[in-house]
Amino acid sequence: MSTRSSIPLCEPEISGSERTYLAEAVGRNELAMGGFIPRFERMVADYVGTRHAVAVSSGTAALHLSLLAAGVGPGDEVIVPALTFIATANAVRYCGATPVIVDVEPYHWCMDPRQAERALRPGVKAIIPVHLLGHPFDYGPMPVPPGATIEDATEALGASWCDQKVGALGNMACLSFNGNKLITTGGGGMMLTDSDELATRVRYLANQAKDDPHEFVHKETGYNYRMSNLAAAVGCAQMEDVEDKLASKRRIAERYAAGLAGVPGITLPREAPWARSAWWLYTIRVSEREYGMGSRELMRRLEAEGIQSRPLWTPLHRQPSLRGCPAYGGEVAERIHAEALSLPSSVGLSEEDQERVIAVIRYSAR
Ligand SMILES: *Cc1c(COP(=O)(O)O)cnc(C)c1O
Repeated sequence: MSTRSSIPLCEPEISGSERTYLAEAVGRNELAMGGFIPRFERMVADYVGTRHAVAVSSGTAALHLSLLAAGVGPGDEVIVPALTFIATANAVRYCGATPVIVDVEPYHWCMDPRQAERALRPGVKAIIPVHLLGHPFDYGPMPVPPGATIEDATEALGASWCDQKVGALGNMACLSFNGNKLITTGGGGMMLTDSDELATRVRYLANQAKDDPHEFVHKETGYNYRMSNLAAAVGCAQMEDVEDKLASKRRIAERYAAGLAGVPGITLPREAPWARSAWWLYTIRVSEREYGMGSRELMRRLEAEGIQSRPLWTPLHRQPSLRGCPAYGGEVAERIHAEALSLPSSVGLSEEDQERVIAVIRYSAR
């Protein structure tokens, strides 16, 4: 039996005040609603630099309500990148709209602005570029749709594009506080915007579109997408050391870059000169021909050593649930999908554990 402990892909890190704040919320009997919600919203809005933040139950809910606030409905089209988690496209489908799938660029694997330009057809109302794996997409050349640019910043809290924090670039941005993200509430999300109107609209829709608080009159169909005060209490604690968490992620990336440099067939991720990555999941490319085994075989080798790694998501134009959606290119996303492997990237990853990961990858090379 192995005496070595296993190394997970990406675990949450307790900041310190979680128990205190949770006890405070419980002590006041404020479980669903309470003061931690506006406090958490203010912390995140001030950190990113937007006027408003609306806490919701998940990143997916934030995307859904952002699209509705942008006026996206049945018959509309929304541009999404080929390489992302399915949630980006699912939010479009919830509105009865059609995702238009656009290939990614080969450097940082985010939506290719030139392909997005081509995809800007008459039916397109909004665009959701994704800051993938913590690295910002190139906002400058991204085409502007008639409706809204919604940043999917669910993986990139703390990243910057040209010294501007991601989440403050487009008309709206969405964050996720799922368990594997930089900060977590055990499940949650947030919509960020400078627009009073969009913030009010999203808050209204997240609260069942309640028009009269006493008589419960509803002029339209809303959603139960609120964040609980308990979740927000955890969020406040997590936000207190967001900078330390980011610094840990950066240190992990630097150690991988040093430890894996020069391994034949392994391509390391790089930060663009205009970017500051949040380094959410450190993801390498494995060339089967040069390395001697492919990304999936390396994943199994790591697994045999108790090390968790993971390929990227199947590209959206290959998803059975999205069959028939228009697509522009997709070959770049497919190549990256075949070769990419995300390595253990928990904020709390120890140097010894990381050295073990690096050693297995180094010594498995042909
Ligand atoms: C995590 C994630 C989401 C969804 O966030 P949830 O909080 O899990 O709903 C959306 N898009 C991308 C790219 C993500 O990584």
